[in-house]
Amino acid sequence: MLVVETADGTRRDSARAVIDASGTWRTPNPLGAGGIAAEGEADFADRIAYGIPDILGRDRALYAGRTTLVAGSGHSAANALLDLARLAEGAPGTAFIWAVRGTDLVRIYGGGDADQLPARGELGADVRDLAESGRVQLVTGFATLAIRAHDGRLIVEGQSEEGLLQLGPVDRIIAATGQRPDLSLTRELRLDLDPWLESVKALGPLIDPNEHSCGDVPPHGHRELSHPEPGFYTVGIKSYGRAPTFLLLTGYEQVRSVAAALAGDVAAADAVQLVLPETGVCTVPAGRASQGCCGGPAPAATDACCVADADAKAAGKMGCGCVGKMEAAE
Ligand SMILES: Cc1cc2nc3c(=O)[nH]c(=O)nc-3n(C[C@H](O)[C@H](O)[C@H](O)COP(=O)(O)OP(=O)(O)OC[C@H]3O[C@@H](n4cnc5c(N)ncnc54)[C@H](O)[C@@H]3O)c2cc1C
Repeated sequence: MLVVETADGTRRDSARAVIDASGTWRTPNPLGAGGIAAEGEADFADRIAYGIPDILGRDRALYAGRTTLVAGSGHSAANALLDLARLAEGAPGTAFIWAVRGTDLVRIYGGGDADQLPARGELGADVRDLAESGRVQLVTGFATLAIRAHDGRLIVEGQSEEGLLQLGPVDRIIAATGQRPDLSLTRELRLDLDPWLESVKALGPLIDPNEHSCGDVPPHGHRELSHPEPGFYTVGIKSYGRAPTFLLLTGYEQVRSVAAALAGDVAAADAVQLVLPETGVCTVPAGRASQGCCGGPAPAATDACCVADADAKAAGKMGCGCVGKMEAAE
């Protein structure tokens, strides 16, 4: 049963199947580290933008000549920082601070020319150049705890490796801290989700950003995207839950497979083909450098992981997600 809100009121529709492709864009993660709103985050909501504001367009006046703190280490943060840098060239007094929770920027700086998506490689390289130019104050290992008022401006307080640290004062904050799925839509349904990523369960181990950075995800379709609830599928970026690595290309093949399954063409639904552009950088979680599979070292062009993956793929099963040459990040 679907509850559909329209301009004419609420309607209830019955459906043979439901495909949830509602995305994650409307439910951004909070600024506070650990997924909990920072103290003061609600009080100063009018000075916080989530995601990527239109810095060079309709939001220009909010950022020109002001100081902004950008929190986050993904592509949204990179876009916002580069826009602020462009704005600063024509708007004197524009300044920005970049605060990231981690200490390793390998993933955001990306694989450069080795990235099979040239624009993604360029974005990482540009933000690296910006950070190294000294035009932005980069603070790593910073976990935001609180926002406090200070002479009409804001101080952002967080835990750093050196103890409690205060950044600012700033005028505005951009929380580029990712998105999470809105699961309230489906609370009455029997869903099978990864307990941490909130992705569909089968994908969780394959897309965990702490484990995988290569950009490769094994082909998957209607079987992995279904749930114990009959006729219910999660597709698109919502199928990845909180993982930030989803690409449209994945979604097209997901939807094709689910549509074929619903049309009764099981052969077409099962024939899932997906080759994603690799990022050109494969990071390895700390302490896993000696392990063989998914994040293990790459002493040669292939390793145990790649062989296991190839075998799994040949057998029509999902492998561990890191196919091809891997290099351990220092
Ligand atoms: C800043 C940014 C840049 C990106 N750039 C790229 C890129 O260059 N290439 C790429 O491949 N991917 C990119 N991505 C990833 C990108 O989000 C996805 O590839 C793509 O938009 C996901 O499509 P989707 O249909 O799953 O979700 P969305 O595009 O988010 O679409 C979800 C839709 O569902 C609607 N909706 C939500 N709730 C409901 C409801 N209850 N009822 C009805 N409708 C609802 C929403 O309004 C929205 O229209 C980017 C993501 C971000 C955040």
